[in-house]
Amino acid sequence: MKNTALLADTDQQKNTTVSLDNASRSGRMGSDELVPSRYALRIGDIDVLVVSDGVLPIPAATVAHNVDATVRTAWLDDMFLPPDVLDWPLNVILVRSGERTILIDAGLGADPNLHLPQAGRLAQRLEAGGIDLASVTDVVLTHIHMDHIGGLLVDGMRNRLRPDLRIHLAAAEVDFWAAPDFSRTSMPDGFPDALRSAAKRFLDEYRSLLHTFAAECEVAPGVVVRRTGGHTPGHSVVRLASGGEGLTFAGDLVFQVGFDHPDWHNGFEHDPEEAARARVDLLRELAATREPMVATHLPFPSVCHVAIDGDVFRCVPAVWAY
Ligand SMILES: [Zn+2]
Repeated sequence: MKNTALLADTDQQKNTTVSLDNASRSGRMGSDELVPSRYALRIGDIDVLVVSDGVLPIPAATVAHNVDATVRTAWLDDMFLPPDVLDWPLNVILVRSGERTILIDAGLGADPNLHLPQAGRLAQRLEAGGIDLASVTDVVLTHIHMDHIGGLLVDGMRNRLRPDLRIHLAAAEVDFWAAPDFSRTSMPDGFPDALRSAAKRFLDEYRSLLHTFAAECEVAPGVVVRRTGGHTPGHSVVRLASGGEGLTFAGDLVFQVGFDHPDWHNGFEHDPEEAARARVDLLRELAATREPMVATHLPFPSVCHVAIDGDVFRCVPAVWAY
């Protein structure tokens, strides 16, 4: 795995480093943000850009609803995380392989009924990185929870995307949201309704662009999405492979707590036991192949390796080579 500047403007980055104030005042970055919140790397011939959509505050209890509060609070304390409300990172990746430019998940967007101002930055941050939304040929969705599709639902987005955009999604995910079962979840108040309505809006607006698959689909050379189920019935992960290298985008299969406690049930998992099984399978696979991963809700940029540590796992951050 090598870092690359192909997707980012190296000169611009250098200038940014030496004159942050000027950059932010002049808007030269296409944004008034102090930091670009994007991270480029390369997997063989595939360019990858990890983009932070921001952070989403969630009640700490969401981390695990099958353990005692005291056990959960002790873990949060060990991890230097607050005991009440956590900022959940939101990572999206943009991939270029061959002639295709592929957005994998789309962030939270901006639901007017939810006050979540620290998220929904994806479009702005892609633009700041010189990425034209009209250049995106494909979208791959790990699943259709609001924090993964919301970016497609913001005002005007549909018109900024290509009319021939292909959106890849497991058929099981589409089926599930026709009559979604929330009986095994433990979400904050308001979330089930928000998730139902976001999924419905997405399917209404984008159904004609959907390319569904049963188990697996090669979206572009070396870009393979495969269904894992668990978190949602159609939850999928994406493996990039080129030149003997690989990287997996794990979506919501692995959260920060998933290394220490892969059997803890996250409140957003629709089938928690199946989610835990799929999580352990993926972590074991990545520990064996030693390939890096990125996941939606791991701290940005979230590029890490998976080690096995006794009967649990360990997250080993990848070194930034710039
Ligand atoms: Zn999520």
